[in-house]
Amino acid sequence: MYYDPPLADGYGRRFPYLRLSVTDVCNFKCSYCLPDGYEKTYSDPFLSANEVRRLVTAFSEMGTWKVRLTGGEPTVRPDFCDLARIVALTPGIEKTAFTTNGYKLPQRARDYFNAGLRAINISIDSLDPRRFHEITGHNRLEEVVDGVRAALEAGFESVKINTVLLKGLNDDEIDGFLSFIENRPVSLRFIELMQTGDNLTYFRKRHIPATVVKERLLARGWRLRAREDGAGPAMEYEHPDYRGRIGIIAPYAKDFCATCNRLRVSARGHLHLCLFGAGGYDLRPLLQDDGQIEELKGMAVNLMQRKRAGHFLHDGDTGTRQHLASVGG
Ligand code: SF4
Repeated sequence: MYYDPPLADGYGRRFPYLRLSVTDVCNFKCSYCLPDGYEKTYSDPFLSANEVRRLVTAFSEMGTWKVRLTGGEPTVRPDFCDLARIVALTPGIEKTAFTTNGYKLPQRARDYFNAGLRAINISIDSLDPRRFHEITGHNRLEEVVDGVRAALEAGFESVKINTVLLKGLNDDEIDGFLSFIENRPVSLRFIELMQTGDNLTYFRKRHIPATVVKERLLARGWRLRAREDGAGPAMEYEHPDYRGRIGIIAPYAKDFCATCNRLRVSARGHLHLCLFGAGGYDLRPLLQDDGQIEELKGMAVNLMQRKRAGHFLHDGDTGTRQHLASVGG
């Protein structure tokens, strides 16, 4: 049975967009997220293919039509393409996307496309090989940049670059990133570094407001685009001389949460109403049989009334978010 109205919270916001983490394992160790690399903290397994199928079916019946597969690094799951196919073939899901650090992307881009993925976000925090290594712990810039080419050639409808703005590390590369998108039909997102439970010292040292980039873009004739339906939080800019676009994700900006349209489910089946919320709600007991779907939807609909208006990052309240790999950012 389809819910009408679809999933909504007490502020009248609708949630067509589900970010589903399929693993919290990551094979990179980015300085702002997992500086010491991934450490296994739980023993129970990640969601199985059947649990993913039941979850996405339930959400599509509550109005979700866009699903993004995240991690950790989602592609480290050996069955990643199978999971993507399950999501892409779920009735009601119109857009299947994923976020990756670009690991082995040149070889695998076509497989991901053939599995039904149509939108890809690739993390590139620096175009300087030495800095890329310093930030990610891996000497793989060339591979990842070649992955952008492979994703475009494979036919992805949307190719985006995620770049976390880091003071004193890559904030002098804004012009380099603009050149990168001059002749590439990609959208590069400058993401403002967010405080999490684990990175306060790093945050204080490296945080730079994303508005710095915004002002520079406006001064150079970039223009704000209208927000697309189901789009993420980025403010997107375009310029007649550039094939690519620039997005700015500024979680500290006023009214950032007013247009919140996404929910998150962790790799072990916990529903997170907010990235910086007070923990998740365990849906997994209701993912064990196809006959539980109505109960699952009922639980999700009820939980929506607990969703807060926004985050409290300005007060230094990061909720239970230790690092972003734990729920896919
Ligand atoms: S911080 Fe929370 S409320 Fe704000 S946009 Fe993100 S998920 Fe939504």
